[in-house]
Amino acid sequence: MTEQQKLSTLIKRRAEELGFSACGIAKAEAVSADVRKGFEEWIANGAHGEMGYMARNLEKRMDPTLLVEGCRSIIVVAQNYFPAAASPQISRYAQGRDYHSVVKEKLFQLLDFINSIVPTKGRAFCDSAPVLERYWAVQAGLGTCGRNRQLIIPGCGTHFFLGELLIDVEAECDTPLKESLCNGCNACIRNCPAGALGEDGLDARRCLSYLTIEYRGELPTATGEKLGECFYGCDRCQSVCPHNRAAQPHNEPQFAPSEELLAMQRSDWQGLTKEKFDTLFNDSAVQRCGYEQFLRNIKSTIK
Ligand code: SF4
Ligand code: SF4
Repeated sequence: MTEQQKLSTLIKRRAEELGFSACGIAKAEAVSADVRKGFEEWIANGAHGEMGYMARNLEKRMDPTLLVEGCRSIIVVAQNYFPAAASPQISRYAQGRDYHSVVKEKLFQLLDFINSIVPTKGRAFCDSAPVLERYWAVQAGLGTCGRNRQLIIPGCGTHFFLGELLIDVEAECDTPLKESLCNGCNACIRNCPAGALGEDGLDARRCLSYLTIEYRGELPTATGEKLGECFYGCDRCQSVCPHNRAAQPHNEPQFAPSEELLAMQRSDWQGLTKEKFDTLFNDSAVQRCGYEQFLRNIKSTIK
């Protein structure tokens, strides 16, 4: 076994101890020309809506070696967030503590571990930098992308946060899976209530997740009817994916919803005060949306 293979084995073992469901390693290099072209077209078509940050730092997004000096390897981890119990008004990913903090804290522990084996410089990311996360997860052999734009992990489904550790040390790399896991059933496309998914991918401007979390303006007419029960995010293109029939609940205590959140009935959301919002969503990803926007969502669907 080479030194790179030994290091890779140790990294994956430590990632498993930290509670990650999957870990793979990709060679740090610029993304393929096809992927770059597809991303540039998506931006040029305006399909990213008002997420201006998606259009910024293009060169770094296309070449992660620009994010860490001397970057050699990209370690990609997947953290399960499929909940055993959840508030039906809030998307599954946002039931407990903010995933950015949880995943990054574990990644820093992984970096410390690698540093204890070999001197290493690196940076940890979780939806927090211009990194094409799903692309690198595919390169690292974790799974393949479905038509619902989610990473499908074999036998596990799509309810995963992705995190990356960019390091200046070379570890043995994995290879992408040879065949797509997406069976092309189009259940995700047919069941999207907003018509946001199509052959060309996701049009964020129509997506209920984008509208209820990222979008700051007035919600388009009929958004409330499309939202149904959930008014923060949307899980439907994942719920209907056959790969999620076997989804197992996560075992991360920090993602568990509070009793207070679980106790909220649909009628309780009306008249939600700022104080209650902050209590319910202290250290939660829901804070990204903010109180005023959250109220806008409630009003659109609960009359
Ligand atoms: S999150 Fe909801 S609105 Fe967005 S693409 Fe999926 S099903 Fe459609
Ligand atoms: S629902 Fe069907 S088409 Fe959509 S991602 Fe899952 S397997 Fe692919």
